[in-house]
Amino acid sequence: MTNSLVTVAYIAASALFILSLAGLSNQETARKGNVYGILGMVIALGATALSAEVTSYGTLAAVIIPGAILGAVVASRVAMTSMPELVAILHSFVGLAAVLVGIANYLQPESSLTGSEATIHDIEIYLGVFIGAVTFTGSIVAFAKLRALIGSKPLLLPARHLLNIALLVGSVVLGIQFMGASPTTGLQPLLIMTALASLLGIHLVAAIGGADMPVVISMLNSYSGWAAAAAGFMLGNDLLIITGALVGSSGAILSYIMCKAMNRGFVSVILGGFGAAPSAQAAAAGPVGESTATNVEETVELLQDAKTVIIAPGYGMAVAQAQHAVAQITKILRDRGTTVRFGIHPVAGRLPGHMNVLLAEASVPYDIVLEMDEINEDFAQTDLVLVIGANDTVNPSALEDPASPIAGMPVLEVWHASNVVVMKRSMASGYAGVDNPLFYKDNTQMLFGDARQNVDAILGQLAALNTKSNPALTSVR
Ligand code: NDP
Repeated sequence: MTNSLVTVAYIAASALFILSLAGLSNQETARKGNVYGILGMVIALGATALSAEVTSYGTLAAVIIPGAILGAVVASRVAMTSMPELVAILHSFVGLAAVLVGIANYLQPESSLTGSEATIHDIEIYLGVFIGAVTFTGSIVAFAKLRALIGSKPLLLPARHLLNIALLVGSVVLGIQFMGASPTTGLQPLLIMTALASLLGIHLVAAIGGADMPVVISMLNSYSGWAAAAAGFMLGNDLLIITGALVGSSGAILSYIMCKAMNRGFVSVILGGFGAAPSAQAAAAGPVGESTATNVEETVELLQDAKTVIIAPGYGMAVAQAQHAVAQITKILRDRGTTVRFGIHPVAGRLPGHMNVLLAEASVPYDIVLEMDEINEDFAQTDLVLVIGANDTVNPSALEDPASPIAGMPVLEVWHASNVVVMKRSMASGYAGVDNPLFYKDNTQMLFGDARQNVDAILGQLAALNTKSNPALTSVR
């Protein structure tokens, strides 16, 4: 393939990646967005493989074919609830690739580069390896936290900010040595910096915990983009630079949106400490009273009587895979004239947009799925809220208790409704490990058990009651 054809293919792939991002910003166009992304990647891979620079197809096939098979198998098997772990581990691969490309590039310098061009190339290598190493180890720690291989609580070393600064200063000093070194002596500062940056990645992510994890994931997504862009500069590959910049900037924008949704400063999240163990005052307060248990029959009665219902889904709905039965309940209620809407917290579940994806998969109409800001005012005029496997995202202590580890995070204010039914298996806390006073409020009733079993039982009873008055509903039973 000639160079100009490769350039045309790269421009087409870049345009498709931009269209893909635009499509993914809205759930109605998300499928199309994915198709654009796949097409762009096929064109990018094809054009790169056919370019004049690639001469050894045997080596290329030996790495791409097993990689593609492995990726396809892992991605097709992964449960929606494990998606953040997969995303985290994939980010670590991007980081590792940037480190390896940088070191390989340094060991095999382009002889044609001299003077300022060679200096710029060395800076690209150094920065690429630095960002790549932080991304690599940071993503592995995020993966371990999300998979519960290590605790989700932040690691708060006494002089943690000082340690970060020391690692950064050390990397800059080594960078100065690296730039002044000859091609044979520069490897040592480069490798020492790689070790320091790896430590920085581990420490940065270990210090972030609890409810801040969503920001960590999108932040690492952003880092992985910049690492890819740096690799693009090292290799002189324009498409890699564009793609990396798209991922880097969209990840940064997502991190900003998530911080805003959680009422947190971006810098304070990066520096860590949020989601720490509850303060002595909060811990001493303990559970705020007694909870009231309910059962399926009573919940069905409440649903039959309610004119307005809001469903607040969370991680538990995803684990239980209850979304299809929830969609059917919604249909029955709407058919009998009840106003049913969904309230979606921006960090509900374990990845951005988690609930929207599940509800879209279950064919819940988009127009009744509302963001937290759009629905929070309406709880006071709502007869019944069904909280299905949500916990941190409906925790009033975020607003009412300044000592709470999640203080200041906006939540779905479900407790303003006339009745709240919370479906979960026990009184256990959610991801952030914080006790939830919602469970002890007078208007809250706990429907204990697996969300899927309870939702299925509610669906069965609702369908039976409503087919008597509307035989068209037999199909949902
Ligand atoms: P939470 O993690 O706060 O709570 C989920 C609840 O679901 C648990 O308390 C659990 O209680 C219940 N549950 C689990 N399995 C089942 C089941 N089979 N049936 C019924 N209930 C079940 O969920 P939220 O969605 O409210 O909040 C998300 C949390 O995760 C936030 O803290 C957020 O910051 C964090 N997070 C979010 C990410 C994102 O990108 N969205 C990424 C990483 C973390 P029990 O055990 O008693 O059943």
